[in-house]
Amino acid sequence: MLAELSPAVIAEVKFAATLLGSKQRICILTGAGISAESGIPTFRDKQTGLWGNYGVEDLATPDGFARDPKLVWSWYQWRRQLVADKSPNPAHYALAQWQYHAQSSKQQITLITQNVDNLHEQAGSTVTHLHGQLSRNRCSSCETPYQDQSSAAYDTQNVLNFDDTLITCSHCDGYIRPDIVWFGEALPVQAWETAETAAAGCEVFISIGTSSLVYPAAGLAQLAKQNGAHIIEINPDPTPNSIVDITLSQKAGIVLPLLIEDITAL
Ligand code: NAD
Ligand code: ZN
Repeated sequence: MLAELSPAVIAEVKFAATLLGSKQRICILTGAGISAESGIPTFRDKQTGLWGNYGVEDLATPDGFARDPKLVWSWYQWRRQLVADKSPNPAHYALAQWQYHAQSSKQQITLITQNVDNLHEQAGSTVTHLHGQLSRNRCSSCETPYQDQSSAAYDTQNVLNFDDTLITCSHCDGYIRPDIVWFGEALPVQAWETAETAAAGCEVFISIGTSSLVYPAAGLAQLAKQNGAHIIEINPDPTPNSIVDITLSQKAGIVLPLLIEDITAL
């Protein structure tokens, strides 16, 4: 792992670990990039990105669903199929390990994610979801959660298949939709409150694997900075986030295990 890192990145990891080890309130925001090494394409990465092939206005907006619910439902069933056999990677596990370690240290770590794949939970983390969860559905009219798992079934090869036939609500006959926050929709109130409170009160804010383009989530780093926090970014590519104090320009699955190992050894 170390062989993949330049001396400059190793030095920055040590610097970041020393800073983080000396602070108590840490807020972490993750995006699609933390799941890239699990084999889930990010939205904006060229070629492999889901973004390049489809218009977000057709697939991830209330208007898109109203125009063509079958297209949107099929897209989300396809994404469910895509993540069904994916597992957490070393970045997810490192964060879970840090949270576990923090139970016996004085650190308070709030993990917030824009991801809908549930890999943080699978790794053992406690996490706040800003953009919903792929595993959940609800009625698009009356909002009733839809529990039935009948839209997914194991085939003879034991592969989970997601049927793209539209489902309707038993209460109001509205179409069932994924419980995901689409563009133009408000974030869940409780989750956003948790995120704002943690960002405003933290001493260090860590942004991991997000292009920092989608608001309001992207504004959390600014909120933290305005309140005096240090900002650390983990991303192999540059982002428009101009308020970063420490940039760790490497894949999260390489940098995070080293960083957390250093912090928890302090
Ligand atoms: P993103 O795809 O915009 O950005 C991913 C970032 O991860 C990039 O900056 C990339 O450089 C970085 N990255 C790639 N590999 C990495 C690795 N191994 N380690 C660390 N970083 C790595 O994803 P985002 O910022 O999470 O997007 C924000 C939100 O935008 C999403 O949660 C989603 O809600 C929304 N969105 C939805 C759709 C859709 O539904 N169709 C499309 C686009 C955005
Ligand atoms: Zn309904």
